[in-house]
Amino acid sequence: AGKSGQQPAQAAFQHSANRRRFLLIEFKRVNKFFGSFHVLKEIDLTVSQGEVVVIVGPSGSGKSTLLRCINRLESITDGELVVNGVRLHDKRIDINRFRRDIGMVFQHFNLYPHKKVIDNIILAPMKVLGMTKAEATDKAMTYLKRVGIADKADSYPSQLSGGQQQRVAIARGLTMNPKIMLFDEPTSALDPEMIGEVLDVMRSLAHQGMTMVIVTHEMGFAREAADRIVFMDEGKIIEDATASEFFSQPREERARTFLSRLL
Ligand code: ADP
Ligand code: MG
Repeated sequence: AGKSGQQPAQAAFQHSANRRRFLLIEFKRVNKFFGSFHVLKEIDLTVSQGEVVVIVGPSGSGKSTLLRCINRLESITDGELVVNGVRLHDKRIDINRFRRDIGMVFQHFNLYPHKKVIDNIILAPMKVLGMTKAEATDKAMTYLKRVGIADKADSYPSQLSGGQQQRVAIARGLTMNPKIMLFDEPTSALDPEMIGEVLDVMRSLAHQGMTMVIVTHEMGFAREAADRIVFMDEGKIIEDATASEFFSQPREERARTFLSRLL
């Protein structure tokens, strides 16, 4: 077990070295407990600038918790976690300053129902980044165009399909100029016919070089868009491999079983 524990970290190291980019996310022997429940176990994980890392694994394996540690929605119990140069294991950090650089898209879009699309998007850039309304609106429209729904700027969320609402949520994240985008099952709440349009937006973000960590069950997307796949089970990273390695020859039995159930 000790030996296979070494492999993922080493593969990840070589991969990021190949890309010659600096690390934006670095977990070192991170543990997290909820009370006495050990939810994240000895997590070692690095994500380099521009990398797209997809996290997969059974329900309850700790994927959301790991993702939420990256923007400090959850704090870690021990170990080291450095994100965008900020040592999150230090308690004295400016959390609001830190969070500006991390965008997050959730399964449920978390839009304000009583605000128009445009107003949902400009809120944070005005409040947090101090943009004027004109600047924020200009920027918001740029990203609404990019996700293909500029014509919905003056609609209310309830007037949009789930796929359109999720694209608004992505545009909202991008308007903050994040260095990292986190996605927690962004298509799980969508009707099947809307999944593709959201994945297309994510795919194009990946091609533009955005650093992304994505929890998803969309294996087709993972296979083509991910640089690396991280497979978790029971709070541990069981496998950390390139997408082609993971899908063609997963090293671990648990990963094979997981894949055979999905594919
Ligand atoms: P996943 O996203 O892989 O389904 P989660 O990270 O959501 O897994 O949850 C991992 C485990 O931690 C689950 O057993 C879940 O019930 C538990 N858990 C998640 N959040 C909390 C919390 N705030 N308090 C206590 N237990 C939690
Ligand atoms: Mg989850």
